[in-house]
Amino acid sequence: AKVLELKDIQLTYGTKGRDVLALQNVNLDIEEGEFVSILGPSGCGKSTLLKIIAGFIEPTDGSAQIDGSEINGIDWNRGVVFQQPALYPWLTVEQNVHFGLKMRKKEDKETVRYFLDKIGLSQFMKSKPYELSGGMKQRAAIARVLVNNPRVLLMDEPFSALDALTREQMQNLLRDIWRETKKTIIFITHDVDEALLLATKVIVMSRRPGRIVKELLPTFTNHIT
Ligand code: ADP
Ligand code: ADP
Repeated sequence: AKVLELKDIQLTYGTKGRDVLALQNVNLDIEEGEFVSILGPSGCGKSTLLKIIAGFIEPTDGSAQIDGSEINGIDWNRGVVFQQPALYPWLTVEQNVHFGLKMRKKEDKETVRYFLDKIGLSQFMKSKPYELSGGMKQRAAIARVLVNNPRVLLMDEPFSALDALTREQMQNLLRDIWRETKKTIIFITHDVDEALLLATKVIVMSRRPGRIVKELLPTFTNHIT
């Protein structure tokens, strides 16, 4: 089934008479369970596209639909992970993940622990973010959105700030989560190898104006095990 449908999306940032056309004529269909990478150089509108899908901003023109209805603001069904994990420094890992829940109840402790275990953070649940490596912090940020069982996972260069080895571990982890949960994932990267490694579909964007120039289906996916 189709989850996301973008039709003729245009997005102009208006900055005091100097308009920036960030996206033009963007058309995109995403099916349930797809792992879509959005690839392109800095400034081509990748983050802008993700922000529209997340409901942070509205397109200037065109239509953006999830499950057949127009995207209207932020929704717990779309979990967003950024390059910087932005955890509360005064809360433990467990408390940070609990804080991500849509409705916070004491009973949700089990849900939180289940996801901490899944993501390999059990032994750090009582730690504070400053005690964690970059990869571990990013695991916490991913667990924080997974606890809500979002339908779509939106990720904006989540591994770009990590060292090569940690990045590879995180790619494997994300691949495992995707295989197990069959969630729809939209993953921004400017790294061609990463895009081809992870995705079932790669969307290539170009700049001036920001637009989609190619859609390709990697033929050699699943080679991380
Ligand atoms: P990417 O994520 O591919 O690097 P962005 O979506 O961040 O690209 O940016 C696309 C274009 O829109 C760039 O030219 C950028 O400078 C511009 N832009 C992004 N955010 C804003 C903003 N809030 N106001 C004005 N221009 C912006
Ligand atoms: P990234 O390239 O990692 O997605 P950002 O989304 O923070 O980084 O910014 C992308 C581009 O958008 C940058 O060139 C930045 O200068 C521009 N930009 C972001 N926010 C604004 C803003 N409020 N006004 C103007 N330009 C912006």
